[in-house]
Amino acid sequence: MIHERHLFGPGPANPYPEATAALGRPLLGHLDPAFLDVMDATCDQLRQAWGTTSARTLPISATGSAGMEAAFVNTVHPGDVVVVAVNGLFGQRMCDVAARCGAEVVAVEHEWGHPVDVERVLAAHPAPAIIAAVHAETSTGVRSDIAALGAGKGDALLLVDAVTSIGGIELRADDWGVDVGYAGTQKCLGVAPGLAPFTINDRAFERRVERPQSWYLDLGLLGGYVGEAGAAGGSGGRTYHHTAPVAMVASLHAGLTRILAEGLPAVWDRHEAAGRQLQDGLEEMGLELFAQKGHRLPELTTVRVPDGVDGAAVRRTLLERHGIEIGAGAGPYAASVWRIGLMGHNARPDAALLVLSALREALA
Ligand code: PLP
Repeated sequence: MIHERHLFGPGPANPYPEATAALGRPLLGHLDPAFLDVMDATCDQLRQAWGTTSARTLPISATGSAGMEAAFVNTVHPGDVVVVAVNGLFGQRMCDVAARCGAEVVAVEHEWGHPVDVERVLAAHPAPAIIAAVHAETSTGVRSDIAALGAGKGDALLLVDAVTSIGGIELRADDWGVDVGYAGTQKCLGVAPGLAPFTINDRAFERRVERPQSWYLDLGLLGGYVGEAGAAGGSGGRTYHHTAPVAMVASLHAGLTRILAEGLPAVWDRHEAAGRQLQDGLEEMGLELFAQKGHRLPELTTVRVPDGVDGAAVRRTLLERHGIEIGAGAGPYAASVWRIGLMGHNARPDAALLVLSALREALA
């Protein structure tokens, strides 16, 4: 039996109704001109969501982790120094992925719950090929300053994880000097999991690995799949690379249409307001927030499980009594932190009130 849930964890979030409705439309062939129009429109919308004009902006056909793999496998040459800012689980994963691509990884470790220390990251190596960081660390609920990394990156490429930031908080890839970025659909974009919005600029593309180890994620081949030649001023011809996940692209298109109609700044404000309402409410209940003040994400709140409370039992109660899913903590904080997401369609005052009242009841 399928239950309807309030998905207030770290993702997936409940999709925008428009994105869900699009999944039920008649399926098109993946080379049908009508579908190619949808793909073109979606790539245009993604450029807006990323804040980029890069022609090489596309939805990769897999989840956010495939975006991470694509970012590194296409840009890391064997022996390249890759400086990774690690302030949570996803920074750690970047180190693993980069190392598998043959990088000499310089991990700059931070205390979890703290933002990336830009000066320390920039000073970690005199001439890295790549500097990588997570914009919104979903494991800790922390936002880091990507613009400052971009300003100081020098000759390095800046590679950024925007899985939990895109469509939720300000993101300006071009202005901030982001050369390579990947994201996911299931968080603030308000679409089901399954695609990885991706962008790479000319500077990074020119330095790419000619024949990366991964065939599926080879950006040189994927260009033809999204008709990138046309966007870049070339022939515009489509070549079959793999079968596009047609329904998911249509759903992403619908979600982005919804977001862009509201306007990105308004969407960011809505996330900010819902996050503040939730965080203020939690503190009024006497709970302690985990992420460092001043660097908290509005879309993903981390809160310490009070002493003597069984965090897993509370989560179970919320799910069984109210159909509300919240997340456990990540990594070493699995038992001591809860993660509450108000992302995309869920970034609303009524959602904040709902989770606050359910949590208050469960803790009473
Ligand atoms: N990076 C961040 C910051 C994430 O939050 C996630 C997923 O939660 C990922 C990467 C991996 O994305 P996915 O689980 O969609 O593969």
